[in-house]
Amino acid sequence: MHILVSNDDGINAPGLHALARAMQPLGKVTVIAPATNQSASGHKKTLTDPLRIVPIADFLEGVTAYAVNGSPSDCTAVAMLGFIEEPIDLVVSGINRGPNLAQDLTYSGTVAVALEGAIFHLPAIAFSLDNRGSKADYEHCIAPATAIARQVMEDGLPPLTILNVNFPNEPAKGWKLTRQGIREYRDKLVERADPHGIPYYWIGGEPPAGDVEVVDTDLWAVHNGYISVTPIHLDLTAHDLLASLKQKWDLKL
Ligand code: MN
Repeated sequence: MHILVSNDDGINAPGLHALARAMQPLGKVTVIAPATNQSASGHKKTLTDPLRIVPIADFLEGVTAYAVNGSPSDCTAVAMLGFIEEPIDLVVSGINRGPNLAQDLTYSGTVAVALEGAIFHLPAIAFSLDNRGSKADYEHCIAPATAIARQVMEDGLPPLTILNVNFPNEPAKGWKLTRQGIREYRDKLVERADPHGIPYYWIGGEPPAGDVEVVDTDLWAVHNGYISVTPIHLDLTAHDLLASLKQKWDLKL
């Protein structure tokens, strides 16, 4: 088995190293990760700039590693489009510093790495650690990440589907199969002035809240100390609305 490991926190992130270690018992590991932190870059494809791919010496014994000056999902794409010659069997991403829950998935470069893997018809898993507010300790995530990846290798995943896995900050009580919950973002637009008096802006604020009381959601599982495993599909169609619009709408255009 040949496993591609990437992330959105960048080649120097401790979580990337932990995930590479977690995959080593399962087969050959190749790491291709962004050269710099690309968190919250979503499923971005670099079209207007050249991509430079630089070998990284001494990343981890037995592991070939590269840094790319592109987006997280570019890393999957360059590997699949021929930069890595040996066929890849599984794409994994993370372990992200911070959770990727509910609507976070649309911002997440960590998840985008896995979605790109699904687009290339490979099973793929995104891993994140809900360390919010404290130090990130990835050690307790390694054995469960190995177990989840081994199960996916045995079973495969349906087309255009990934698993989104979130670890609680402490060693987990167990694991739960979940669905996406609903986040509530608390960002504010912060205006500052540069030395010339010209205003500039930040988007940011308190960490997002969310409805952690709704049972069987990703937010609920992690909040209660469980590993959350959510199957995610790339079909974003609102199927219920589609059915009802077919009944209700009679537009004359
Ligand atoms: Mn990140």
